Amino acid sequence: MRAPNHDCKFCGLHDGRGQRGKRPKHVCIEGNGNMGSRAMIIGEAPGEKEDQCSKPFVGPAGQLLDKVIGGAGAHRCDFFVTNIVKCRPPDNADPRAGEIRACATYLRFEAMRIQPLLVLVLGSVAFKGLFGLTPLDKYRSRWLEAQGNWGDWGETFFLPTWHPTNRRKDAPDQLAQHVKEFVAVWRYAQEQSYDRAATRAFIKGRQSRQPEKFPLMPVFR
Ligand code: SF4
Repeated sequence: MRAPNHDCKFCGLHDGRGQRGKRPKHVCIEGNGNMGSRAMIIGEAPGEKEDQCSKPFVGPAGQLLDKVIGGAGAHRCDFFVTNIVKCRPPDNADPRAGEIRACATYLRFEAMRIQPLLVLVLGSVAFKGLFGLTPLDKYRSRWLEAQGNWGDWGETFFLPTWHPTNRRKDAPDQLAQHVKEFVAVWRYAQEQSYDRAATRAFIKGRQSRQPEKFPLMPVFR
């Protein structure tokens, strides 16, 4: 894993996949937020606004995310917010599998620093990148546990949900519901000093079953 490198050239996104004139303004946009909350929010990739400001989730998707986190009684500063890919893809295309693999070293570095117990995963691109699982619709709103000892990630609980830009009619309401669930579990985990067994039991009580175990993709282990 590596610390952020603003001159990174590990994948073509640093120069807009080689398309002249499409180089993003900023390379390797790091996550930001609360380094001590043991909770991360992982989205897909920076968009235009994020590239201008060099911060994740400051555009329209970030505004919606702020609103639903506020509706759940928390603030986005309570969490560490980042993306699975750190440079803006041209025309806001979905990041490709090779780009996610190339960029994994930076997400692992962030996870190493945060040591997350809880992760909210926004959207199918980030979810597939982390677990290789599809479709998101089958897994969203269910807590998953990263299987086994995943090194620096430890045993972490993941809650997949829609990305704020998802165009499904019911996506904003469901996103708000899932964020409320995430905040409720995070508050409980805080009270329990982030005790893993207590948090697992709390999740089991809320969804009437243990969080299902899945391996993270090898590049994140
Ligand atoms: S997306 Fe990630 S791997 Fe690719 S150039 Fe940017 S920082 Fe490097």
